Amino acid sequence: MGIFHTHVVLPLSEPERYSGLPGRLRQIGKFERMSEKQQQKIQLDRLRALLEHAYTTVPYYRKQFDDAGFHPRQARIDRPLPLPVLTWEHLRASEAWLISTACPPEKLRVTASSGNTRVPIRFYRDIEGIRDKVALKLKLDEWSGIKPGDSSMMLWGTGSSAKRESNWKWRMDEGVFMRQTPPPPGTIAPQDLERWQFRYEKQRPTVLAGRATVLAAFAAYLMEHGVRHRPHAVIATAEVLSPLHRQLLVSAFKSEPFNQYGRRDVGMIAAECSEHEGLHFHPWGSYVEFDPVGNSPDGIVYRLLVTDLLNYGQPFIRYDTGDCVTLTDQTCSCGRWFPLAGRIVGRLADGVVRANGAVVPGIALTNSPTPMPRPFLPILPIKGARKRPANAPRRKNWAMSA
Ligand SMILES: [Zn+2]
Repeated sequence: MGIFHTHVVLPLSEPERYSGLPGRLRQIGKFERMSEKQQQKIQLDRLRALLEHAYTTVPYYRKQFDDAGFHPRQARIDRPLPLPVLTWEHLRASEAWLISTACPPEKLRVTASSGNTRVPIRFYRDIEGIRDKVALKLKLDEWSGIKPGDSSMMLWGTGSSAKRESNWKWRMDEGVFMRQTPPPPGTIAPQDLERWQFRYEKQRPTVLAGRATVLAAFAAYLMEHGVRHRPHAVIATAEVLSPLHRQLLVSAFKSEPFNQYGRRDVGMIAAECSEHEGLHFHPWGSYVEFDPVGNSPDGIVYRLLVTDLLNYGQPFIRYDTGDCVTLTDQTCSCGRWFPLAGRIVGRLADGVVRANGAVVPGIALTNSPTPMPRPFLPILPIKGARKRPANAPRRKNWAMSA
């Protein structure tokens, strides 16, 4: 199913997203087969190209680069970029100044941030960037042992996408061509879980994917009522996958779930490989920096800064995702040198139980148009802020703000 899907079915069914997919997948595949040194050289070239593009065509960055006395050819991937952080407030206030003048309006696509902890905002991507991100997501899925076209069922547990899901074309693309069952909308009431179980046992999906809290609730329900099918892979995303939820998924499905990290503003950029030793940030899609901000029971906490290497329409450079991660000292057994986060800790969103017993995924609440307070994080400030902690793991390929 894989090659036929990526080379024929998807490009013909939805060229907006899948045009040129075989070539894009080939490029990433070739990159993944290169040596560590070659990959780092290519990542640096791609970083400098993106920075050069931003400097010459984006008024906001032109000023920021000049103020910092920085030129794109000075960029390195073993140290932080000497540029200010791009914040959510910048995106909100400087929209017109952040769009590349070289990108014609008809090549731009607008979307809204997930607003995981804040009010959603608009941002733009160029169409080629969207297609590159789709290809990268499919490559990251391959790490879970799945292929495009594998039957999959998604569980989000919110009604936020109900409008899109009522669109017949969307349902056709997702259901027929991608072989994905659209995520059932609504909160997680016992009757929902029963309905999902019926659909799950009828479809017997190869892949079960969704929000961690929703997957965990479904796994707990199945364990209580009988697990009659086990998918080849379980993929948890959009929320923190807590150790408790991971254990629950292992107990129900008898295999380790794959955690993936992505956001609407920068796309899917990190995933677990088959070794399950942390999340690798794929250097084809982004250049990430880890800025130490505090301590937690799991070790030092870093805020995640992302430079998106795939969006030339509205470049994101040193973008403060608002998410925090812990790092691991270990090198993953798979041998990849890619930056490895032990855990994503900044998007923790437990489910909220309503009086009627229904569960609302915590992160869904923050998609409300009403501003929500930032979630509490057990982060303690580091003395002498911005100084690199003495016990921070040292990796020559990881940039750390100092
Ligand atoms: Zn690995």
